[in-house]
Amino acid sequence: MTSLAPQFELLRPPVARQAIVPRPSKGAAARRLGVLPMPKLEWNAEVERATAHLYEKVKQVIPPVEWPFFAPYVKAINELKKKRNAVILAHNYQTPEIYNCVADFVGDSLQLAREAAKTKADIIVQGGVHFMAETSKLLNPDKVVLIPDLLAGCSLAASITGEDVRLLRERFPGVPVVSYVNTSAEVKAESDICCTSSNAVQVVESFGVDRVIFLPDEYLARWVANNTKVKIIAWKGHCEVHERFTGAELRKLREGDAGLQILAHPECPPDVLEEADFTGSTSAMSNWVRTKQPKRVVLVTECSMADNVQTENPNVEFVRPCNLCPYMKRITLPKILDSLVYLREEVEIDPAIAARARRAVERMVRLKH
Ligand code: SF4
Repeated sequence: MTSLAPQFELLRPPVARQAIVPRPSKGAAARRLGVLPMPKLEWNAEVERATAHLYEKVKQVIPPVEWPFFAPYVKAINELKKKRNAVILAHNYQTPEIYNCVADFVGDSLQLAREAAKTKADIIVQGGVHFMAETSKLLNPDKVVLIPDLLAGCSLAASITGEDVRLLRERFPGVPVVSYVNTSAEVKAESDICCTSSNAVQVVESFGVDRVIFLPDEYLARWVANNTKVKIIAWKGHCEVHERFTGAELRKLREGDAGLQILAHPECPPDVLEEADFTGSTSAMSNWVRTKQPKRVVLVTECSMADNVQTENPNVEFVRPCNLCPYMKRITLPKILDSLVYLREEVEIDPAIAARARRAVERMVRLKH
């Protein structure tokens, strides 16, 4: 244990954890609802006509030569969604053809969790990573929730287990536990409440106490500690995408371009946040660009975010130091189509864990904004 400042305590030395790969589902949804025939996937005049309005949205970020590959999938997925009464939730880090052309709801984890809670669809396909699909399942226990690739994990979620949280509770009896949504259902089940990067400070302060355990992202925890009087007991988990950015690379970008606006995600290391003109969640960054319309901006977060914000802000120039999330990028149009045809992979959570994890998520969703 290292004590860094009166208002911040960091636990656990860095130990690499193996990503936990969830088991394939038993195929209950496919047996109940049936498998559909795989649609024909060819580029022709009809597909071009049917998808022209969607290509308009992404033409700034997808070259015309690539569209004939995407368009047959886009058309087939949109038709299958209607047949299956399904919706697709796409995180801001999904590629532009998913985010703009097949998604029904887009946003950060909190926005997607809220949409998941409201949907009337029978099937939810998660364009995102496994913990997000688990969150959708927690809020929609009677719906079929599908993740198109089981290996769409997350380095943060893999950094902590339910057993770790139980040990922390023994060590700090009575101290509330706040878990970032980037955690497994098992970790959520051991927590009092969840948070996202857009509501972390509000959630920490909602207890009205002077100490809170905040898991598992060290850098987000430091950022929260800098924005509240509550003492933060943190865990040394990191996002492998955001931790690669450095303050030095941002200073270099700014040297050649004094007017450049730097927007950073709070999962980035502190030296990166020191260089930033604005720090916030992906939805906060998006809103900032929409309202301020800067001439040139760099979004210090996952690479696809700039493409997606670009489509909504054609007059803003985006400088792109590109760090891709290998887990988010496992979700592709062909895999989404497979999900809708074969109803795989179905997300399943042990009911006893789900009931406790749901409480933590619902407590967050109920907080006013
Ligand atoms: S960007 Fe980071 S936090 Fe988000 S899914 Fe990828 S590894 Fe996890």
